[in-house]
This record gives sequence, C-alpha cells and structure tokens, in this order.
Amino acid sequence: MIKENMVVSLNYRLTRDTAQGELIEETYGQQPLTFIYGIGMMIPKFEAELTGLQQGSKFSFGVPADEAYGVNDPSMIVDLPLEIFKREGELDKEMLQVGNVLPMQDNQGNRMDGMITEMGDENLKMDFNHPLAGQDLYFTGDIVSVRQATQEELDHGHVHGEGGHHH
Ligand SMILES: [Zn+2]
Repeated sequence: MIKENMVVSLNYRLTRDTAQGELIEETYGQQPLTFIYGIGMMIPKFEAELTGLQQGSKFSFGVPADEAYGVNDPSMIVDLPLEIFKREGELDKEMLQVGNVLPMQDNQGNRMDGMITEMGDENLKMDFNHPLAGQDLYFTGDIVSVRQATQEELDHGHVHGEGGHHH
C-alpha cells in the first residue's frame, strides 16, 4: 500500500484541465515513473491522491494550477538586451526566435529556462514562468508496483535498480 518511504512505480497520462484535455505527457509505452513516496520528489497534491493505493489500482484526479506549478507571475517576464546573446559579436538568428526556449542563469548561477515571447530590435522579452504555470493538470493512470524503499535508497534520496539509479 502506498505510504511514506515506499518505492512507487506507476504509469500516467497528464492532460490539460480534464481527462479529455490535450495530452501533455504520458509514460504508457515508455518506462513507468518510479519514485520514493513522501520525500518531496513529487507535487504534494499528486502524492496525497495516491495515498493508500496498491499495485493494480487505477487513479484519476485533477491538480489545480496553484497546487501544481503555480500561477503565471508577470514579474517572471523580463526584457533582456540582445547584446547578451551575442556570440563573437554575432546574433544567432536560428536561436533567437519567438517560441524558442533557452537555458539561462540567474544571478546565483541557477539554471532557468526562458521562452522568447517577443523580439525587438535591441531587446527581447523572455518568460521564465514554468511552461505549466497557470495550467490545471489532470492525471489518469495505474499503479505498476509498490515496495518498501531500502535504507540505502532513503539515504541517497533516490530509487535504485529498475527505473532508478544504477551505481
Ligand atoms: Zn544511490
């Protein structure tokens, strides 16, 4: 049964707003998602909905935006000078197009993905909100397996073996 410190493997379909919404991603036909339950690896609301399920259980639930990736924050949309994108004095026109997502860094050196939303002559607008910010999510799926995490897995904070780390 799914509870704290269990290793859970599951397949899911993630769709926008409802079970019938546009598909965002799914694990069917690929590797199931495998994680240690209750150590903060997943969205809390996602874990809460899975509590008590067992191998073979099916699930179907929504996660509102504010409990998923948060709401869109207008202060996360910023103007940046084109100057900083120059490589050897040149702008890469291929790279600098509306809709492209570029890996950037904040002042502390943390990696943040920014999507170009507008191109100007001297500046561009970049949106650093999570791509799923403001989006209500819906999960449907089934539990593939549930087992106790080993002490080593708990110490490392990740799953070993199938669907996890090999080391
Ligand atoms: Zn490990």
